[in-house]
Order: sequence, then C-alpha cells, then structure tokens
Amino acid sequence: MNLKDVLAAKGHRVVTVSAKSSVADAIRAMHAAKVGAVMVPDAEGCPVGIFTERDVVRLYADGDRDFDTLAVEARMTCSVVLGRLSMSVDEALGVMTERRFRHLPVVEEGKLLGVVSIGDLVKVKLNETAQEAQALRAYIAS
Ligand code: AMP
Repeated sequence: MNLKDVLAAKGHRVVTVSAKSSVADAIRAMHAAKVGAVMVPDAEGCPVGIFTERDVVRLYADGDRDFDTLAVEARMTCSVVLGRLSMSVDEALGVMTERRFRHLPVVEEGKLLGVVSIGDLVKVKLNETAQEAQALRAYIAS
C-alpha cells in the first residue's frame, strides 16, 4: 500500500491555520478537529510550516505561556518533510520513526493533498498483519 491508498481510505481533509494565527487559535483548531497537528500553507496551499501538540508541550516547558499573542509562525517547524502519493506505507513509517515525528503532509505538484499520521499507518499495518494471519490459518487448515 502507498500513501495514495491511505488518503483514499481516510480522506483528504487538512486542518490549516495562517502563519499569523496565535498559538491559542492553533490549539483550538487542533482540539476542534481532534487532530494533533495543523499545517501552515502558503498562498498556493503548499505547506510552509507544521505545528503540532509536541510544539505546544515544548512552548509550555520553555515558559512561553502567552499563547494568545504568540504567532504560530514564531514556533512552527519550517523545514517540513513531505510525503508523496507513491511513497509506500513502510517508507513513510521509516521516515517518521527515524525523524521522530508523527505527521507527514502529502504533496504532489505543489498541492497539499492530505496528511497521514503515524496512527493511520499503524492501522494499515495491523490490518495487513491480521489478513496475513488469516491467510496462514486458512492455508494450514486446508
Ligand atoms: P509530532 O511527533 O508530529 O507531534 O512532531 C514532533 C516535532 O516534529 C514537532 O516539533 C513538529 O513541528 C515536527 N514535525 C512534525 N511533523 C513534521 C514533518 N512532516 N516535517 C518536519 N517536522 C515535523
């Protein structure tokens, strides 16, 4: 399976905020949409930044508590690692594990097509494992 299949199953919704949004607004957007990350797109919709729950934890631990006035652009991660539709689930899991993050925006020809989380990919792997176990049981029984 590749990221095209994952997005076809989970949908293409992307939760975005503008770079000038406050951190408080980004937290509210994540909470309302029940996601752990928001994308900050440029005028063409390509991600220029990502801001996640982990960044909120870091801000709080650093003593930065003025979430209503602090802009997301001041604390988002700008060097966003992107996935492509043709990327396999295993490859995406490898990148996320190695780079120690849990969100991968999928971009093709400069267009943001969706976001896959590590949870989405673990779900695919669990399904594959269950199907393989079922096939093996059927083979042994036959
Ligand atoms: P996460 O585990 O996804 O909550 O993110 C952990 C850290 O990595 C946070 O500082 C995020 O801003 C950053 N991050 C998350 N996803 C990506 C990505 N695809 N590319 C670059 N940085 C990311």
